Amino acid sequence: MSKSFTEVGEVDPTVDRHIKIIATIGPSSRSVEVVRGMVRSGVDGFRLNFSHGTLEEKEEEIEVIRDVEREEGHPLPIIGDLQGPAVRLGEFEPVSLSRGSTFTLSRDGSEGIPVPYDDFFKLVERGDMVLFEGGRIAARTLEAAGGKVVAEALVEGTLKPRKTVAIRGKEFDLPSITEKDGRDLEFAMKEDLEYIALSFTRSKEDVKELRDRLEEADSGSWIIAKIETIPGVENVDSIAEEADALLVARGDLGAKFPLETIPTLQMRIIEAAIRHGKPSIVATQLLDSMMENPIPTRSEVVDVYTAVRDGADALLLTGETAIGRHPVESAEWTNRIASYSERGYGPRRLAEGDTVYDRFALGVVELAEAIDAKIAAYTRGGFTARRLSRYRPRIPLNVFAPTLETLRKVALLWGARPAALVKGEVDLKGLADIAVENGIADKGDRLVLVRGRLEETTDVVRIEIL
Ligand code: PGA
Ligand code: MN
Repeated sequence: MSKSFTEVGEVDPTVDRHIKIIATIGPSSRSVEVVRGMVRSGVDGFRLNFSHGTLEEKEEEIEVIRDVEREEGHPLPIIGDLQGPAVRLGEFEPVSLSRGSTFTLSRDGSEGIPVPYDDFFKLVERGDMVLFEGGRIAARTLEAAGGKVVAEALVEGTLKPRKTVAIRGKEFDLPSITEKDGRDLEFAMKEDLEYIALSFTRSKEDVKELRDRLEEADSGSWIIAKIETIPGVENVDSIAEEADALLVARGDLGAKFPLETIPTLQMRIIEAAIRHGKPSIVATQLLDSMMENPIPTRSEVVDVYTAVRDGADALLLTGETAIGRHPVESAEWTNRIASYSERGYGPRRLAEGDTVYDRFALGVVELAEAIDAKIAAYTRGGFTARRLSRYRPRIPLNVFAPTLETLRKVALLWGARPAALVKGEVDLKGLADIAVENGIADKGDRLVLVRGRLEETTDVVRIEIL
């Protein structure tokens, strides 16, 4: 298998944005008005963050999203993001720290702030950098002994209950799917969420464990492996093979790795995803200042551009839309910057695919480009669409599917446009008629129609000159 990338020329500038936008739902955005506003501003899908809020709230959020989907006639995928094995502070009154001030951590909070997790005290050593709230607050360990830690704050800030704790360069040994995750997963499967995000993925075994649970429950949800640990970065290739998508979780990555390495890590994770034909999502602090301000900073604009040019499939807004003051404006700005950033963009194409079906899809993309056709793909589970998308077609990629679930899934793939539901059996000649009926192709157009004969295959092609 060749691992070289080639530039494939500029994407069609008349085609809408190829990179997708995902917004996290939270207190700032769980109303029909805001969700509708975000969809009209370019949001292609939503994330529910199981680290916060109750299942009742999640149920209402899902209802809101599904209502807006019906209203707008636009398939809207939902990602259920499991909290995963995070270590969090216990309950206490917020403590404000000035730079250089010292504070104490203990197991039960009998002295200072509670960290209700034994292994934290086994792992931490004098001189370690401890990061709270995904790195918002950093402290240096002065003493670590007897289940007690004394640390010096390196920045000014307020320590708040339930926020995450990490030790730079070290990993806690926790199960991949905690009891809480198990309950949230049950809920997510009951609600038929299209994607499940696995936080702190360390290896492909973590992904397999989730896959087994999904298969046991007969769920076809796609798995997004969040890359935000040291082993996760080391094993990114085997994880990309096993997962359905990768997520560059820059918040926690920044707590585990030196900040200056984030751009390189982002690029490496995206490249691993492209190599294995899986979509990638870039998350966290894309437009962080928009939590407060109605316009982004210059450097945030450049950050969105970088994610587009690195070759990501999707951008994920987190705090901006969940708890920020300007969720709709954040979506609007992401759309504006991402659309403009694609001008003159020649995405990279993996020269060879892994299977005969991947190579077939590559051939289809090159054929369609050579005759300046539009692609119309019929995909049952989304696999044919994912295969075509991985080769970054320069011409429109219209996707037809027999279920709404599949149309929702493909809405997060680079360049894939969910076109229409196709009920019942259809051959590729029939699909051409459906494409015309749906206004996707017109007289004089060329259509390259493609599908697989069996689930998860891509092996039939037809050309129509209308
Ligand atoms: P989180 O993941 O928001 O669930 O922490 C994203 C990140 O770590 O960047
Ligand atoms: Mn995270």
